[in-house]
Amino acid sequence: MAPTTDLLKAPKKDTPVFSPENVTVLFVLGGPGAGKGTQCANLVRDYGFTHLSAGDLLRAEQEREGSEFGEMIKEYIRDGKIVPMEVTVQLLENAMTAQVEKDKSGKGKFLIDGFPRKMDQAIKFEETVCPSKFVLFFDCTEEEMQKRLLERGKTSGRADDNAESIMKRFKTFVETSMPVVDYFEKQGRVTPEAVYKETRGKLEQRLGKEF
Ligand code: AMP
Repeated sequence: MAPTTDLLKAPKKDTPVFSPENVTVLFVLGGPGAGKGTQCANLVRDYGFTHLSAGDLLRAEQEREGSEFGEMIKEYIRDGKIVPMEVTVQLLENAMTAQVEKDKSGKGKFLIDGFPRKMDQAIKFEETVCPSKFVLFFDCTEEEMQKRLLERGKTSGRADDNAESIMKRFKTFVETSMPVVDYFEKQGRVTPEAVYKETRGKLEQRLGKEF
């Protein structure tokens, strides 16, 4: 999991912090339980991406001692609501900066998983942090996702892998996050995914084998 450094109070910026020449960003979207995390793990193994899950970063911030956002994040997650973008975008930027600095080459390849889930954060991130190359979209039926999440809930210890929170998360996904997928789709920036073999083929088509 990526570290969370001191949050917020970043100066207002007009140009993105990272140039897409140096930093490859792929957004990874799909409903809760669609398999985003599993697919990201495969892509990390095969292409050396850094995997940043918005949900994981928020949970880490929630647990961070002294965080002024802990209680707020907890409530939003339990209710399946979208945490305000000021927090989420800044956590991602911090994690990306830490990774690019660690790498020393000034370059990076990121899978940003579970983000953007709302239009405002999509626009804010691309304007101030880094434009994304494209979006990997994992489609899955609600029935299947619910089954997986309830199964995961037996051991995940997550406050939102229960029937009530799951219903709320599905509602948020349909009402708030699908419009983001549609927005990128209209720009020809969505790659729909079914199985991992296809993901690899399409990724190499769009980025080249040796990217
Ligand atoms: P996930 O780990 O992706 O299932 O996300 C769990 C919860 O974290 C979501 O239901 C939201 O409450 C919150 N969350 C995850 N990603 C985002 C995001 N991009 N923006 C705001 N809130 C988010």
